[in-house]
Amino acid sequence: LHFPRTFLRHSRRSLASLVIPDFEDISRGKQEVPEYFNFASDVLDQWTQVEKAGKRPPNPAFWWVNDQREEAKWSFEELGLLSRKAANVLTGPCGLQRGDKIMTVLPRIPEWWLLNVASMRTGIVFIPGTSQLTAKDIIYRLQASKAKCIAVSDTLAPAVDSIASECKFLKTKLIISESGRDGWLNFRDLLQAAPDKHDCVKTKNQDPSLIYFTSGSTGSPKMVEQSHCFGIGFAASGRHWMNLGTSDIFWNTSDTGWVKAAWSSLFSPWLNGSCVFVHHLPRFDPAVIANTLTRYPVTTFCTAPTAYQMLVQHDLSRYKFMSLKHCLTGGEPLIPEVFEQWKKQTGLDIYEGYGQTETVVICSNVKGMKIKVGSMGKASPPYNVQVVDDQGNVQPPGKEGEVAIQIKPKRPFCIFSQYLDNPEKTAATERGDFYTTGDRAVKDEEGYFWFVGRSDDVINSAGYRIGPFEVESALSEHPAVAESAVVSSPDPTRGEVVKAFVILSPAFLSHDPEKLTKELQDHVKKVTAPYKYPRKVEFVQELPKTATGKIQRSVLRKREWGQV
Ligand code: ATP
Ligand code: MG
Repeated sequence: LHFPRTFLRHSRRSLASLVIPDFEDISRGKQEVPEYFNFASDVLDQWTQVEKAGKRPPNPAFWWVNDQREEAKWSFEELGLLSRKAANVLTGPCGLQRGDKIMTVLPRIPEWWLLNVASMRTGIVFIPGTSQLTAKDIIYRLQASKAKCIAVSDTLAPAVDSIASECKFLKTKLIISESGRDGWLNFRDLLQAAPDKHDCVKTKNQDPSLIYFTSGSTGSPKMVEQSHCFGIGFAASGRHWMNLGTSDIFWNTSDTGWVKAAWSSLFSPWLNGSCVFVHHLPRFDPAVIANTLTRYPVTTFCTAPTAYQMLVQHDLSRYKFMSLKHCLTGGEPLIPEVFEQWKKQTGLDIYEGYGQTETVVICSNVKGMKIKVGSMGKASPPYNVQVVDDQGNVQPPGKEGEVAIQIKPKRPFCIFSQYLDNPEKTAATERGDFYTTGDRAVKDEEGYFWFVGRSDDVINSAGYRIGPFEVESALSEHPAVAESAVVSSPDPTRGEVVKAFVILSPAFLSHDPEKLTKELQDHVKKVTAPYKYPRKVEFVQELPKTATGKIQRSVLRKREWGQV
């Protein structure tokens, strides 16, 4: 069986009434989590049965495309078959056993999904990483996680070879490639030869399943351990925030190394019987995104706020999207200006959600609810989400504090188990009855959460607390600003002041910087409370970002304070 070259055609079956395995009550906290749970056998294999009975619309379960118009299309049955073969590759030639760890650093290729599901089937702990990692990043991750196997494609194999001897736990190197490489096992060859019979292991709901490294927006990435039942936590949000059902085709553009890929390109759609749509997308190109939405019947789309920003700057009015009806975002705050532009150009709203690698969805705007532009929406079940003060006391509406999730007396089943090998960091997140997120927000009278900034990013100027997000949002309403990042900067009288790093729109590059600074300052004073205006402005060509595209304000801040 060769893919992605091979086009696996999905068989069309009659559309009868739907039988959907329903985990929504569990994900709402209304029903206990089953003692044993495995996403592969309890969700995916169930959909195979539904599909075989002709009770699912004729959508593929997985649909992968690339720029060369190659495709892979699998039904749930085909996904089952291929992932069982992959499971046999892991436990056979790769020599892995239940509890061992595999680090998988792959571009958006179908094998990422196969290895992920194969890990569930075998009880092997799956550790995704983004393919933008360098040899230095990989060695840090391999040593920290003690992974026994690493799976990469051609691009990263030399980097792995350069450091492999320093990783004493690493036993097997698995390459996903058309050709072989010395010292490596070739996954595609092994997959073809592997038997397709495999009994899924029985996993307890809290057995470790995934390890994610956080984005590293604030420091070294932490290892977040998630259990087998983590995935169930997306049943309600998948249905109501993402608005997914069995006839939906969901395209989420996240890199496979980011937890958002698990949220939106695996758990949420497959819990709801939807099709996971993937574009290989070697680099972010607005034209490719727009063309793909024009060419394929994608109903639901999710991308990062910065990507929406690039899309609206590309001007989408000239495209006609084939089937798009629901748009989502998360991972960073969505600037209101981008929401408005997207609405103007496509006629669609963007439903923002908020969460972390440590959690499932914490807040979201669910379909049918009034969207308050600039807010992250309301608390998402099963979490009890509150704003708390430094002692862990719940704050009343309107009062700023840290976003926190109640974990006592009962810890939600779908929150991380721990930061692996870091009990101090794990303990430091707990305050009173709550897990604290490190993010500051205000909850309004109607229960909507308004993001202020990461705790470390909040600026304290002459007694005023200023969240960078509000200032950045205000700046973005000015036509000269393509993108900006706002941080604190030292000041002899005020202690610290607001400084804005601004990337200019092309049309303003030749303008006088002094005049422009004044104009931007006046603009911010006009659209938001004047004390927030940036006393310092610096025009830059780029902003420091994490591999997942998030602005690293901490890097700019440290530079300002001479800490680098
Ligand atoms: P690290 O923990 O290593 O510094 P990180 O926090 O960026 O990295 P992630 O877990 O990927 O790693 O990101 C979660 C964070 O992203 C949240 O804590 C929050 O700061 C930010 N975030 C996510 N969604 C939103 C949103 N809708 N609005 C504002 N911020 C968001
Ligand atoms: Mg974090």
